[in-house]
Parts: sequence; structure tokens; C-alpha cells
Amino acid sequence: MGDVLANSPAVPSKVLVVEDDPGVGSGLAGILAADGHEVRWAHTAADAHRLIADRVPDLILLDLGLPDADGLELCGKIREQNADVVVVVVTARTDETDAVRALDGGADDFVTKPFRQVELRARLRAHLRRRGEAGPPELHAGPVRLDQGARRAWVGEREITLRPKEHELLAVLVASAGEAVRREHLMDVVWDQHWCGSTKTLDVHVASVRRKLADAGDRWDRIATLRGYGYRFELD
Ligand code: CA
Repeated sequence: MGDVLANSPAVPSKVLVVEDDPGVGSGLAGILAADGHEVRWAHTAADAHRLIADRVPDLILLDLGLPDADGLELCGKIREQNADVVVVVVTARTDETDAVRALDGGADDFVTKPFRQVELRARLRAHLRRRGEAGPPELHAGPVRLDQGARRAWVGEREITLRPKEHELLAVLVASAGEAVRREHLMDVVWDQHWCGSTKTLDVHVASVRRKLADAGDRWDRIATLRGYGYRFELD
């Protein structure tokens, strides 16, 4: 089923490209429009704010080096105001620190320039497909409850705000509560089966989910690390 879905056309979506380089920006906009998406292109952070206020996109492709703002700051602001949009950072920076900061700051994924067009399109397709998919209506384990349709989550009576990838990650762990889940499985299901980047993405997202569960009063070790294997959602 995964292969069939991977080859199916993208879900037509509203995509915002934030990129100051005319060559890269028009290239990205062209690729996305050819895949059937409604594409808008912001050349600056100010443009991006204006276009997002006008119409919230489903997915944002965000360059980190912008003329009027740091892309990492912009990413944080976008995330504060729009919990549900998928943010993919596209950057020439190869420093892993920037990538981790971007993920910490609210990005769901990152790709480095120069990117392979086929890979970028597959990644975006996977993000948009998962965003549009509804899983089982409700998942429940220990004190954690997830409403998949509404994409809301609670610890006991306290609602927590999860980013799209955090929600998906927690959903997989809760669905397998009490059982060990392999890192590779999480990468496949939550990100992309053709994933070839660093698994730092997974660790950063797990750390953030742990923090949010604990902030809402749950145990710090609710998600146990199984060294060399993966993670397990612990039942009480
Ligand atoms: Ca740039």
C-alpha cells in the first residue's frame, strides 16, 4: 500500500515558498505548480507574514537566509501562530546545528541545497498525504488521549499543543503502547520511507514530546529510550 500511495499524485494543497533567490524560488514554484499545488512565493519575511495572514497555507518551504530576517526566527513566529501548518526548511547551510535549531524552532523537516528534485517532491508528497490522512478517531493509553480527526491531544484533562510531526509520532507510540517501536519504523511511518537524512530529527521530536507531556504533569520517562533499538510508550 505504501508504494501505491508513494506513487500517487500529490494532494493538491496550498503551498507557500519563502525564498529570496529568484532562480531557486522560481524553480521550486514551478515544480510545485506542476504537481498541482496552489503556489505563492514570498521573497522576504515581510512578504511571508503578509501572505500567511491573507491565507494560511498547508505547507511552507522556508529558506533560512532571507534578506530581512533570520529564517529560524521566522520559523518560530510561524509556528507560534499556526500549529497545524507543515514547515519544511530548505537551506544551503549544511551545519547540523542549524538543522537541529530549525527543528527545535518548529520546523517539521529540512532539506539542504542543492536538493534532488525527485527526493524533494517525494518528501513533500509524504508530508501532505499524512497531513490529509485521518487515522483511527481516537487513541488512548495511560493518561494520554489523541483525537486524530481534530488533531488534539490531552494528558488527563490538560490539552497539549503538538506540532504535526509530534502528533503523528505520539500517535504511533500510543497505538503501540507498552511495546518497543523501532527507530526505522518511526522514521518510515512519521516521515518518509525514502528518508535518508539524520535521525536527529526523530530525537529532537521525541525530546519535545517528552517535554510537553511532562509540562502537562505526566512522567518524564513516559517515552522510554531503548538504546540501539528505538522507543516505548510506557503504561503505568
Ligand atoms: Ca536565501
